[in-house]
Amino acid sequence: MDDTYCETPGQTAPEPPAGTAACPPYAECVLCREPTEYPESTKGATLCPVCAWQEAGRTACGG
Ligand SMILES: [Zn+2]
Repeated sequence: MDDTYCETPGQTAPEPPAGTAACPPYAECVLCREPTEYPESTKGATLCPVCAWQEAGRTACGG
C-alpha cells in the first residue's frame, strides 16, 4: 500500500507577532529631515515644529 497523497496546501503561514514598530510613518521635515507631527499622507511641504517656528518668524519679520 503505497498511496501518494496530494498534500493539501491549506496551511496558512502563521502571522508574525506584532512587535517592533520602529517609528510611526510621519512625514519628514523638508528642511532638516526631522520627523514631523504630520502623517506621511500630509500634502505639501511638512515642517517640524522648529522649522515651522523659524519659518513663521522669518515671514513675520519680513526678510
Ligand atoms: Zn525641520
